[in-house]
Amino acid sequence: MAEENQPQQPNPERKTLDDRNKMSDLERLRHSCAHVFATAVLRIWPEAQLAYGPPVETGFYYDLEMPHRVTQEDFARIEEEMKKEIKANNVFQKIEVPREQAIKDAQSGRLGGLSERPGNVSKFKLDLIAQIPEGEAISYFQNGDFLDLCAGPHVMRTGNIGAFKLTTVAAAYYKGDEKGPQLQRIYGTAFKNKTALDEYFKMLEEAKRRDHRKIGAEMGLFAIDTEFVGPGMPLWLPKGTVLVEELEKLAKETEFAAGYVRVRTPHLAKEKMYKTSGHLPYYAESMFPPMEMDEHRADRQKIEARIAELEKQLADHAKKTGNA
Ligand SMILES: [Zn+2]
Repeated sequence: MAEENQPQQPNPERKTLDDRNKMSDLERLRHSCAHVFATAVLRIWPEAQLAYGPPVETGFYYDLEMPHRVTQEDFARIEEEMKKEIKANNVFQKIEVPREQAIKDAQSGRLGGLSERPGNVSKFKLDLIAQIPEGEAISYFQNGDFLDLCAGPHVMRTGNIGAFKLTTVAAAYYKGDEKGPQLQRIYGTAFKNKTALDEYFKMLEEAKRRDHRKIGAEMGLFAIDTEFVGPGMPLWLPKGTVLVEELEKLAKETEFAAGYVRVRTPHLAKEKMYKTSGHLPYYAESMFPPMEMDEHRADRQKIEARIAELEKQLADHAKKTGNA
């Protein structure tokens, strides 16, 4: 990646103060729930090292590192502790500190912990402090015993979190960097009240029932063959093909009526085209790998043969001079 050579890697997960000010009420609530989640985890596993706990489109997550591998079986236990923290209705109290104090609290393990943890430096928090630009205020938020490095915003009290649920566990790299430490990412969601939470899970069930892959197969429109073709590549059956052709017909008629004329282009192009279009620099990971043309293959074979020849000569030479 291009970022490799830069000394200070920009962190895609760090929110600017401007981003934070734009957080919606629901995002605030969900991010607050991430603090409550962390509090609960630390009550069960006090040694846990916390990294990030932002809100996401469907709820929140918190990344953490600890010897225990969290599984779905742990959720009920963690949720039980979360309920206690919500019931306690603790205030999210903001504390501004000088940078030296923040570093000290990270080193003692206090930051991102329920108490000081001698010998267990809050290493991610220490790194996060280093990412806060000079001149930007450093703040903590405390709910009960849990002290976290955070710029907010949150709801007023833990009791404002109406309803929540832990959903999944995934693996994630710290700062999204695959060379960095691997963390456990636990996802959850939260809503203002239980009704909204229930509606959300009901909607997910409905969406599953309406999944086009399921319906399309049931209606005999297309088949997906992951073994011989690939996922996301439908093989249109007769009924589906009628639909595709009718849509094409409608598209052509509509374009013709609007005065457009049609052109045809190949499905493939050279790398340069995808650089110009701006796809390659940003979407390389989700694009098909490049195909190697015969002319390049021949060149590469020649170079590889020459390298092999030189390596053999070197080995022979080493043998003769006794340096093998
Ligand atoms: Zn926070």
